[in-house]
Amino acid sequence: MTFASLGLSDALTRAVAELGYDEPTPVQRAAIPVVLRGGDVQASAKTGSGKTAAFLLPLLEALRARPGGSVRPVRAFILVPTRELAAQIVEAVQQYGRYLKKPLKTCLAVGGVSANPQMLALRGGADIVVATPGRALDLVEQNALRLGQVETLVLDEADRLFSLGFADELNRLLALLPARRQNLLFSATFPPSVRTLAERLLQEPTRIDVDEGELPSADLIVQRAIRVDAPRRTMLLRQLLETHAWSHVLTFVASRYAADHVALKLSRAGIPATSLHGELSQGARTQALADFKAKRVRVLVATDVAARGLDIAGLPAVVNYDLPRSTVDYVHRIGRTGRAGEQGVAISFVSADTEAHFRLIEKRNHFAVAREQVAGFEPTETAAPAAPPLDVNGGVKGRRKSKKDKLREAAAAGHPPKRKP
Ligand code: ADP
Ligand code: MG
Repeated sequence: MTFASLGLSDALTRAVAELGYDEPTPVQRAAIPVVLRGGDVQASAKTGSGKTAAFLLPLLEALRARPGGSVRPVRAFILVPTRELAAQIVEAVQQYGRYLKKPLKTCLAVGGVSANPQMLALRGGADIVVATPGRALDLVEQNALRLGQVETLVLDEADRLFSLGFADELNRLLALLPARRQNLLFSATFPPSVRTLAERLLQEPTRIDVDEGELPSADLIVQRAIRVDAPRRTMLLRQLLETHAWSHVLTFVASRYAADHVALKLSRAGIPATSLHGELSQGARTQALADFKAKRVRVLVATDVAARGLDIAGLPAVVNYDLPRSTVDYVHRIGRTGRAGEQGVAISFVSADTEAHFRLIEKRNHFAVAREQVAGFEPTETAAPAAPPLDVNGGVKGRRKSKKDKLREAAAAGHPPKRKP
């Protein structure tokens, strides 16, 4: 199968051929014809499987085929959860669209930088706007961005955009869009709760689920878990960096403070490292990612701001120095390696206190890995004894009552439990 046979014209097939795309990936094969027809799509496909081109190529084709007038209303509105991902998508538009006879005007609308240049760029409209939700709303309020004629809405990393942190902004943006429009939802993960929310948005969607399961397959990413005492993790990371010839390593931590702290400790040990997190200026964030991509720094210590969507060419390893709080984010974090058919390794540090959480990550994501120990780093700590206080109702605090608990209570109270109708 070729890109041309999916209905894409020469300008686009030539651009992807030059990028070394020999043939469409499964999600591209499934999505491109549907998007070209104007249908709604909810597509889940693994990290690194080419979802960006799966929505961008047909979108560019459609915009090319129906050129806008001299005033350009925003026809395609692409929402993503992070600024770095938005910039990456604008780059992809430029690469894929480079041979279009009539260039499509694409604007970036993200926070952390002055709004003025974005407002200037949006004067006279744009064919495509790639945005993060907060700045998009700001620009609407400033009358710089008008969404009333959007034909296609794309939510990349859709499940993240539906999550609590974005829900309010997303709803406000949806209210500004025409009711009749095409909706394209892409992500590697669609938890059941999100599928329900997405239902309300989609109209007769084509659901694309190209792979079994959400985790990248083991021949692309080798997952490892190393047991280590928490205070010795930086030393262990240094040792791993010495024993493996990794060109660069993305290390995830739980907080902004930890990102700076670990990066500083590595730098002091002579390992070029820098941090990436939400408290840095946007200039510093962009610089950190550029330095890492160019391999000017060997270790990028990041919070989950780097967990989603970023495509870092040839990244051989991801280390979970801290485990992700959300079991879904595990999939996205490790998916920064093992992309576009390349191989990678994902190593999680597990200590006595986080063993239970790692088990949950394994269970939710349907995998299991053997715990390893590294000589010289054998763990000595044991988990703090779990004896949660009893609350006045006799249940364990912080835990929801199980079905069994409720049955027992009902039996004790002498009446049968209520059943759902
Ligand atoms: P996803 O969004 O599914 O995580 P991306 O769209 O970021 O994945 O693509 C991952 C990598 O694969 C990118 O570097 C992209 O250029 C490359 N890629 C996409 N489609 C193809 C293809 N058909 N052939 C080869 N490489 C591709
Ligand atoms: Mg992506």
